[in-house]
Amino acid sequence: MALGVEWGLSWLRSHGGYRKQEGQRQRGQGTPIWALPRAKKRLLWQLLLTAFGFLGLYLYRLGSLRSLEVFIPMGICPRATMPLLRDNFTGVLRHWARPEVLTCTSWAAPIIWDGTFDPQVAEQEARRQNLTIGLTVFAVGRYLEKYLEHFLDSAEQHFMVGQSVVYYVFTDRPEAVPYMTLGQGRLLRVERVPQENRWQDVSMARMRTLHEALGGQLGQEADYVFCLDVDQHFTSNFGPETLADLVAQLHAWHYHWPRWLLPYERDKRSAAALSFGEGDFYYHAALFGGSVAALRKLTAHCALGQQLDSERGVEAIWHDESHLNKFFWLYKPTKVLSPEFCWDLQIGWRTEIHTPRLLWEPKEYALVRN
Ligand code: UDP
Ligand code: MN
Repeated sequence: MALGVEWGLSWLRSHGGYRKQEGQRQRGQGTPIWALPRAKKRLLWQLLLTAFGFLGLYLYRLGSLRSLEVFIPMGICPRATMPLLRDNFTGVLRHWARPEVLTCTSWAAPIIWDGTFDPQVAEQEARRQNLTIGLTVFAVGRYLEKYLEHFLDSAEQHFMVGQSVVYYVFTDRPEAVPYMTLGQGRLLRVERVPQENRWQDVSMARMRTLHEALGGQLGQEADYVFCLDVDQHFTSNFGPETLADLVAQLHAWHYHWPRWLLPYERDKRSAAALSFGEGDFYYHAALFGGSVAALRKLTAHCALGQQLDSERGVEAIWHDESHLNKFFWLYKPTKVLSPEFCWDLQIGWRTEIHTPRLLWEPKEYALVRN
């Protein structure tokens, strides 16, 4: 707004009427606003109102402005690539079911959307392979009471139903983890981790802890693992169609944005830095997954990047998520999940979001963060 007023005043000055007044004011005899000619007064008011209008729109109506981003096209999957897009779990993908969204990456990995896969094919395939699927989650400090029970309850209803599942809960207070009755073939292990001074450190420490766990019991008992934030809950079937060697999640807030606008780390001193020509998509650190071997590599890369940054006294803008995005730029995911798999209701209604599988909890940072 200040800019608008300043611009308005300088326009008046440069167009004559105000210059004289400025000179007079220096001598203590300035023309007050009410003494300005009518046309100029009207113009001044128009400028002020426009400036206020833009400020109001910016502060309160940004949501409605943001919904215009759906008109930024995501691109389409080339016909020649489509037959290549299949994997052990989804079988042939039905691209024609979702012509309005991007269903593959430029390196021919599928981006799976509701309707493009047959969940039963994936379920049968996972059972045939007799898989165990790990689900890791951290609940440190107040995140435990606030989110963990709902997260686990919803996972029991929707996560890999009918498969062997092992939950790994990492917490600073194992004794406070709620007792849960689990379905057949499902078990829960609790591991103690230290509380950190800052929430950012809890978030980043996950990479090293996961790396160690994947090298230990978790890595021995699970074939594939998903690593999730706790501040979300499952709302619909999240099954083996999501499995692949390396799985990334499109960030619900950024999947329509042009690449140069994506919130990658740009500071070259950070190991997570991407320059303006780099990056494919912006991926969400609240959900990533893959085979044990692939995740060992991912967590090693991110933990090392974070350590190098801390030795240099820098911290990536979005912490572990920045390092994860760097990793996925260097080592492409073999499957990408559409934002339907991890959606935020705050974004509002979108025709392309059919069945959200996971929903973000409302952010209540004042309650849960130090
Ligand atoms: N976390 C935690 N305790 C903390 C900070 C973070 O348990 O004090 C874990 C928790 O699983 C959380 C994740 O780290 O979901 C990432 O933090 P957060 O969800 O606050 O980050 P955001 O999703 O807002 O970027
Ligand atoms: Mn989160």
